[in-house]
Amino acid sequence: MSEYDLLVIGGGTGNNVAAAGADAGLDTALVEKGKLGGTCLNRGCNPSKMVIQAANAVNNVRDAEKFHTEATLGETDYAAIIDEMDEVLGGIADGMEERYREKENLTLYKDHAEFVDERTVVVGGEEVSAEKVVVAAGSRPLVPPIDGLDEVDYMTSADALYLREQPDSLVILGGGYIAVELGYFFESMGTEVTIVEMMDSLVPREDGAVSEGFTEIAESRHDVYTGHRVTEVEPDDGGVQVHAETEDGDTIAVGGEEVLVALGRRPNTDTLDVEAAGIELDDRGFIETDEYLATSEENVWALGDIAGNQMFKHSGDYETQQLVETVVHDNPTEVDYTAMPHAIFTEPQMAGVGKTEEELEEAGEEYVVGTQSIPGTPMGRAKKLDHGFVKVLAAPDGEILGCHMLGHEVSTMIHEVVVAMRRGEDTVEDITDTIHAHPTLNKAVEYAFGDVEL
Ligand SMILES: Cc1cc2nc3c(=O)[nH]c(=O)nc-3n(C[C@H](O)[C@H](O)[C@H](O)COP(=O)(O)OP(=O)(O)OC[C@H]3O[C@@H](n4cnc5c(N)ncnc54)[C@H](O)[C@@H]3O)c2cc1C
Repeated sequence: MSEYDLLVIGGGTGNNVAAAGADAGLDTALVEKGKLGGTCLNRGCNPSKMVIQAANAVNNVRDAEKFHTEATLGETDYAAIIDEMDEVLGGIADGMEERYREKENLTLYKDHAEFVDERTVVVGGEEVSAEKVVVAAGSRPLVPPIDGLDEVDYMTSADALYLREQPDSLVILGGGYIAVELGYFFESMGTEVTIVEMMDSLVPREDGAVSEGFTEIAESRHDVYTGHRVTEVEPDDGGVQVHAETEDGDTIAVGGEEVLVALGRRPNTDTLDVEAAGIELDDRGFIETDEYLATSEENVWALGDIAGNQMFKHSGDYETQQLVETVVHDNPTEVDYTAMPHAIFTEPQMAGVGKTEEELEEAGEEYVVGTQSIPGTPMGRAKKLDHGFVKVLAAPDGEILGCHMLGHEVSTMIHEVVVAMRRGEDTVEDITDTIHAHPTLNKAVEYAFGDVEL
């Protein structure tokens, strides 16, 4: 048995905990069965945002006409987009592995791990244990038991991002953020996209104004079936036929060359056999953690997707910072998820922080609303934007409760509101009192906050 001071399972976000441990002089083991960098670098945020930039480039050519410029969209070398992305990101993952193999105090195990007790795992036949264990083994696509799905060659997001041949048509099961980002990419490239979503709108977790606004935009670009639950999938003439039905029993059948399952993600607690360690899980299989990210077992912590607290790369990175203090520097540090933002990188983008109007209504909280159209601002006009708004939710005393945006570059625009909410003491007036450079897109944020009647 090999014994260490610190064992980190999962080289996604977790790799930073291992590096910090090694830098602090702890004899550290890092276990990763795949590429270092995990989901975000290899099959999540990074590849999806790289291919989306290619989609944006294509759409900019299409939009040139708006600016009285004749531009003809030539051939897009689809395979080259994917090859380049693979090469760039693969290079980063390989470089990271090289550095970690040479890093002092760090032993890298490139194999699958399974728990045998609370602080011991078996990796490639070898037992590895440590005084302190951090579980950062992430999540994977959820593939529910839909009739016939096993009989077709379906893709998950990881496969779709590395598809070397562009499909003529694609049916996407699910309408969450991964589905709409990939839908935007493929439809921009010229693939005929159909999205089937069970809820009444796409991105149903967003504030209602954002999800309804985005659904309308998506419907104008490709086929969208909301309020339809997928019941069966079957092979069809070299492709796939998807059957779905409404609550009232109305049925549809849509066909495509490829089918992408984007119905959520599940934690890797089962494949890591976390239960063998006696670590408590919630009813969806995520590891239960407290405010220090401690699990039910002493000296075992969990972070990132497997703990299911937020499931973003930036929340995992934040948890890493806190956990390095707690675990590496013996300085117990709580996590505080106040003002955790998120963004969806379609065009137009979506971004949000704080509560949605629906959440405030459900909680019976009093609130006032301020809104501003983005195309109605000088920069929105100059850019000839067709869509977009900023929506502010505030308490009657001016406390900022939430802010939700749909529009060009809102993933960047949201951050002034994130800073204000994170400080906890800033109010609507602090945003309206702030001088915003004219005519930035963020003027829309200032005007939306100015629209709040206190
Ligand atoms: C298509 C897509 C787009 C996304 N876009 C965004 C975005 O724009 N912004 C954002 O914030 N988030 C985004 N995310 C989510 C983000 O990628 C994740 O929240 C984040 O990467 C989770 O980090 P993690 O460290 O918890 O898990 P991971 O990065 O998945 O790391 C876990 C690692 O553990 C390894 N592992 C698992 N089990 C074992 C085992 N038994 N033995 C050894 N190793 C094991 C895995 O191989 C993996 O490398 C996206 C996700 C997807 C799928």
